[in-house]
Amino acid sequence: MTSDMVVVRKEGLYCVPGQFYIDPWRPVERAVITHAHGDHARGGHRHYLAAAPGVGVLKSRLGDIHIDGLAYGETVVHNGVTISLHPAGHVLGSAQVRMAYRGEVWVASGDYKVEADSTCTPFEPVRCDTFITESTFGLPIYRWQPQQEVYDDINDWWRANAAQGRASVMQCYSFGKAQRILSGLESDIGPIVCHGAVQTLNTVYRDSGVWLPPTVMVGDVDKEDLKRCLVIAPPAAAGSPWVKRFGDFSDAFASGWMQLRGARRRRGVDRGFVLSDHADWPGLMQAITATGAERVIVTHGSIAVLVRWLQQQGLQASGFDTEYGDDEADDGVAIAGGAAAATEAAAEMSVATANAAPGGDVPAPAAPAGAPHA
Ligand SMILES: [Zn+2]
Ligand SMILES: [Zn+2]
Repeated sequence: MTSDMVVVRKEGLYCVPGQFYIDPWRPVERAVITHAHGDHARGGHRHYLAAAPGVGVLKSRLGDIHIDGLAYGETVVHNGVTISLHPAGHVLGSAQVRMAYRGEVWVASGDYKVEADSTCTPFEPVRCDTFITESTFGLPIYRWQPQQEVYDDINDWWRANAAQGRASVMQCYSFGKAQRILSGLESDIGPIVCHGAVQTLNTVYRDSGVWLPPTVMVGDVDKEDLKRCLVIAPPAAAGSPWVKRFGDFSDAFASGWMQLRGARRRRGVDRGFVLSDHADWPGLMQAITATGAERVIVTHGSIAVLVRWLQQQGLQASGFDTEYGDDEADDGVAIAGGAAAATEAAAEMSVATANAAPGGDVPAPAAPAGAPHA
């Protein structure tokens, strides 16, 4: 094949021979959806294809859509392109899209995370000629602790607050992050109260067979018990009358961006927990290497830094300009927070130690400023 199998059009990523879009941001005839976060799964398409475990979430978010579910690894041929979906380890039902046409293979990653967690099928590397990768945390400064250490920190914080008769309010994205945190909680510390937006998704997860600890709505808890509960709420609920019901509480935010020193202060919360549903820098490297791809196309995140790094490794690398946002920052209006964090990351690159990068080669700090929404 002489021309590219996937290109960017004004509607979104487009598979040319297959005549379908991947996570399009404008309404199209046929859309393959990698996962149900709002910037990847939009309403208004005529026909949807997604991984079977993600169909429930997509319907709960987009309503009555015309959708086909494909089991992971199962194939379907569309206009001569063999399509299959493979676990991305990001959220329930998240998938990488593999496209094979005339002996050539392209894979579009969507969002992915390489550390396995109990709320979704673990990331699976897929061999390909060209890999389209996200780069939300595509800077060498991003290195996650093992998630169990973060769960332990969250439980310690909750236990200490409960001992002092204070509720613990955790702000996080209601789809994916919330359920992952739930899966790591020690539920004997106290009741777990979920905001309605979170509880709706908990139900979808449980219906899909994912184990989560028991959770309740605020009205179900005695006033006295509220003093030792852990609350999971979307950031949009911060400062609302709903959250004021918990009285004197300690609050926290969970996101990969919490690795940046200013992020917790900017959120105005007591604690920041660094927990991301995206690959960190070593995770991106690991995933890209495992594909065996000679060509890598970088989307939303630190495009310039990652492209330059990959080129230095001898790969053919370039970027795609997309309209994907940042699900680590907020529910809905995610992009501003991500851009602010990326700008701050650029500033912090100058103070990050030079040996943070593999091989001691730190990419230019100015590059990521335009990132998540570039
Ligand atoms: Zn996502
Ligand atoms: Zn994304």
